[in-house]
Amino acid sequence: MTIPVAGSVAVFGLLIGSFLNVVIHRVPAGESIVSPGSRCPRCGVGLRARDNVPVVSWLLLRRRCRSCAEPISARYPAVELLTALVFGLTTARFGRDPVLSAFLLLGGALIALAAIDLELRILPKRIVWPVFGSGLVLLSVAAFVDQELGNVLTALGGAAAAFAVFFVIHFISPRGMGFGDVRLAALIGLFLGWLGWGHVALGLFGGFLLGSIAGVAALMAGRSRKSALPFGPFMAAGALLTVWLGDPVLHWYLGAF
Ligand SMILES: [Zn+2]
Repeated sequence: MTIPVAGSVAVFGLLIGSFLNVVIHRVPAGESIVSPGSRCPRCGVGLRARDNVPVVSWLLLRRRCRSCAEPISARYPAVELLTALVFGLTTARFGRDPVLSAFLLLGGALIALAAIDLELRILPKRIVWPVFGSGLVLLSVAAFVDQELGNVLTALGGAAAAFAVFFVIHFISPRGMGFGDVRLAALIGLFLGWLGWGHVALGLFGGFLLGSIAGVAALMAGRSRKSALPFGPFMAAGALLTVWLGDPVLHWYLGAF
């Protein structure tokens, strides 16, 4: 895979990131993500096209709404840049493999879910289940084209296993692990399962590891246990790192015995 191709998909990621900002803002509020067009959350004035260019408009407007001067959150350009990065790395990982579109869907969904979980401590099923369904379709098409139909079975197995493990943890400690995390585990298990059982284990373990490190760091920085960190962003990070680096990591790990 050439760098220009990964670069163009990254630029496409900026536009998708712009759409994800709409999803992050509207889905938890139960609003439509299609209409009306983008508008200022404070004064409601619709954005003109030139004020709606990813990252660039935020810089040109000096981080304020043109109509009411309300500061525009840095979350908007951050989500756009992060989506560009995730799309670029995912394209570098899969190249022209037909499964690329499925994993771009996963990347975009994980960014939106992580941002919503950080802000509101929820992982909306209105995002998780539609992405699960369309992801299963895209993975099945890729498996059919690649003639790797067994991948669909490990994907479904990965989803079921991840759901079961997280459901048991949720059942034992419902306050420590919300049901949203259980749903997210199923979604991650589906995609990582397409890559293999080792990826499912590595991705979920990676999420726990990152969450534990951040939890200890937060405690040491003096945050109380009550303001516990949401787990979704760490699960998302563990999953994406496993998509990109799972092959070499598992190869090294299995080769060490
Ligand atoms: Zn405004």
